[in-house]
Amino acid sequence: MKRCDILIIGGGLTGLMVKHLLRKTTFKSILIEGRERLGGRIYSTPSDAQNPPIEMGATWWGPKHTRLKALLKTLDIPVFPQQLGEQAIYEPISTSPFQLVTLPEEDQPSFRIGGGTSTLIRTLAATLPTAEIHLKTRATGIAERADGLRVECPEGDYHARLVISTLPPYLLAKTVNITPPLPTNLSELMEQTHTWMGESIKFGLVYDRPFWREARTSGTVFSNVGPVTEMYDHSDFEDNHFALKGFISSSFYTLSETERRTRVLRQLRGYYGDVVDTYRTYREKVWTRDPLTYAPYDKPVFPHQNNGNSHYQKTWLGGKLLIAGSETASLFPGYMEGAVQSAKWVAEFIEKTNNII
Ligand SMILES: Cc1cc2nc3c(=O)[nH]c(=O)nc-3n(C[C@H](O)[C@H](O)[C@H](O)COP(=O)(O)OP(=O)(O)OC[C@H]3O[C@@H](n4cnc5c(N)ncnc54)[C@H](O)[C@@H]3O)c2cc1C
Repeated sequence: MKRCDILIIGGGLTGLMVKHLLRKTTFKSILIEGRERLGGRIYSTPSDAQNPPIEMGATWWGPKHTRLKALLKTLDIPVFPQQLGEQAIYEPISTSPFQLVTLPEEDQPSFRIGGGTSTLIRTLAATLPTAEIHLKTRATGIAERADGLRVECPEGDYHARLVISTLPPYLLAKTVNITPPLPTNLSELMEQTHTWMGESIKFGLVYDRPFWREARTSGTVFSNVGPVTEMYDHSDFEDNHFALKGFISSSFYTLSETERRTRVLRQLRGYYGDVVDTYRTYREKVWTRDPLTYAPYDKPVFPHQNNGNSHYQKTWLGGKLLIAGSETASLFPGYMEGAVQSAKWVAEFIEKTNNII
């Protein structure tokens, strides 16, 4: 059994940020992550000489995300505005042709992260001792003990005085067996807490030239017809690798990757012509197929349901368990800003109590 003062479950932005904030304390902390990689819902596909990173998860942030903005600045990570162009392709119904519409001027532009959003994850991870980050280690149970909590993992158990879960609350409720059980009102709340973007399907297409920037067309697409519902220019920070990235309607999750790609290309051919077939690379991610992000809901939940609920700002199991993660944040829950805010709340809680039992 491995022992530490604080065990963080989950190596997404919240978990890594908690670990980063704790690095100056005297507490011995370990972070366990179920996947082979860090980042969770932040996942930029690996880039090479031909391909830019494609965001399969979080992509954009705005000026009101002040904590994230400050973090990016402190870590010296470059940022750049999302290119939208002046017009968008708009397809309201299947029985009418698409239109080119003029986009209103943005009062709050969206920004992207240079090198891909995973740059933030890599940079944070580089501030942490690798021996204290255990990948491919999945928590399946949390059991209360007199002097702390035992976290059960098929790879070997842990004992910690304080455990911080950073799993989306619904995933925690459905995939980790907690004994004694959490109060009914909390477990019911967790079972009705939406995991932001968990139903998404994202795709990216890499091209040698940005043909969508030519006159009378656009890389920005909004379609009620689909399967592509939204799409944007996704070229890299240096603007020398060109790509489009968009969302596929979540109802297409049952198709194979080849079938989805065929339908995506058919739709885009309607806007741009045969040039869409000159793509260099196609990438996609169906998040509902990823059991470390998504579990099917027992009852329908609506987007952002119970995100930021005040119950998540309490402690559980006699003060030995904190339920953190973006969906629990009191500000911007579900977003990267929420993840940073949640981590700061955890760090402030530990600093305030300065005694983790
Ligand atoms: C498709 C998509 C698009 C998005 N777009 C945006 C955007 O543009 N802007 C924005 O701000 N936000 C966006 N988001 C949301 C953003 O990604 C999240 O808010 C943020 O990354 C959440 O971080 P987190 O650490 O709280 O949770 P997660 O990233 O979900 O991290 C939880 C971690 O726990 C791990 N884990 C799960 N179960 C276990 C277990 N049992 N044991 C050990 N480890 C476990 C997971 O592997 C994961 O690494 C998007 C999300 C998705 C999926």
